Amino acid sequence: MHQYPAGHVFYRKLNQPFPEIVRGEGCWLEDVDGKRYLDAVGGAFVASLGHGDAGIADAMAAQARRVAYVNGTAFTTDAAEQLATELAATLPGDLDHLYFLSSGSEAVEAALKLARQYWVEHGRPEKHKIVALAPAYHGNTLLALSASAREHYKTIFGDWLVDVIRVPVPCYRCACGGTDGTCATCTGTALEDAILRAGPGTVAAFIAEPVGGSSTGAAVPRPDYFRVVREICDRHEVLFVADEVLCGAGRTGTWWAIEPFGVVPDLMTIGKGIAAGYAPLSGVAAPRRIVDVLAAGSGSLLHAQTFSFHPVACAAGLATVRALKTRRLVERCAELGDVFHAKLGGLKSLPHVGAVRGRGLLAGVELVEDARTGSPLPRSLKVAETFTARARDAGLMVWPNVGHADGTNGDLVMLAPPFIVTETELDEIVARFGVALERTLSALAVPVP
Ligand code: PLP
Repeated sequence: MHQYPAGHVFYRKLNQPFPEIVRGEGCWLEDVDGKRYLDAVGGAFVASLGHGDAGIADAMAAQARRVAYVNGTAFTTDAAEQLATELAATLPGDLDHLYFLSSGSEAVEAALKLARQYWVEHGRPEKHKIVALAPAYHGNTLLALSASAREHYKTIFGDWLVDVIRVPVPCYRCACGGTDGTCATCTGTALEDAILRAGPGTVAAFIAEPVGGSSTGAAVPRPDYFRVVREICDRHEVLFVADEVLCGAGRTGTWWAIEPFGVVPDLMTIGKGIAAGYAPLSGVAAPRRIVDVLAAGSGSLLHAQTFSFHPVACAAGLATVRALKTRRLVERCAELGDVFHAKLGGLKSLPHVGAVRGRGLLAGVELVEDARTGSPLPRSLKVAETFTARARDAGLMVWPNVGHADGTNGDLVMLAPPFIVTETELDEIVARFGVALERTLSALAVPVP
């Protein structure tokens, strides 16, 4: 175990020990002491191919041997060209041009800047406002953080953030449960009210995750939600940016989570699973109708970064996308997703387990005070954090999130196993979840109803 301040690493958490991982294979990680962890969340919704995939490692090594780095302002590479071609073949509608970056936050920054630059170069400089859902998370750099409704991340940086207009997230903790065809939140008409209040002539973009990430425990909007969003955005000339950094690249059982909604966004951000964790890789997908405006105007997107279009990262992405296609892993994710959700349904009989949401191999499990009402446990108990620590002790890696219920309270546990997970491993995830929950409730002395 390593722990700050020993050694010289400035860790993500300064008051917890970090096991040192020495190898990974499939859904399993092994630390230096030989302890094995079942990676039920692919690190952070990333390792969709599992760990130790030799094909991806070989492709990266081959690219590094040929040429590891060129700058994106001067050169392109076969890896970037082919990756863009492979992705364009999967992306909806006219989203067929790709701008590659390293992280999801960078992709969100770039997409929002592209939306703004598009309107400026289109002769509509007054269009600058951003509308986003709440709760939601779009990244940690300052514009992406501004777009994120995760208040405890933002408190001390408030002076540096821009105002973003908020619309409540659909079909998540709404009293109507997504079933009321007149509910403004769940049908999408709340977006139109927000745009009208802001003045449509001033709104540049609406950004939303087609299937929620850890902010909403993988909440899935009503089937008609994004059709209504699309109509509203068209009516008011607002660019619809689908943030698929977490839910994309097959995670929900379709290549892109927006697909079942039957609409095409104006821009899409992608990341996490597109290189399955073998390299940091993200991107913005854009149609020619938007890129052409820049091509005829300033000539470039004002978002230059040293490591954009990185050849080795693109080679990792290319090998990943090809593996997803040739091994039919997105289809497998859909099939196993149904199996997974059926198994997770069994968790609802456990004490303090509330809603279980999600699609494909993406799931969110709420831990609540009262499963009938969904009322949250007191934040002071730190249930999600304790659960995550107990799960790790039990050899299960999950992703916690807090504060989604009312901005302060709310405990969520996210699961997103690799697409190569077996049914036996899915059973093991559910079993270890139960063990971790029992140990959490007993450690915190939470009364079991
Ligand atoms: N967008 C969404 C939907 C995310 O879930 C995340 C990260 O979790 C991001 C953007 C930011 O990605 P990154 O952490 O790679 O910067």
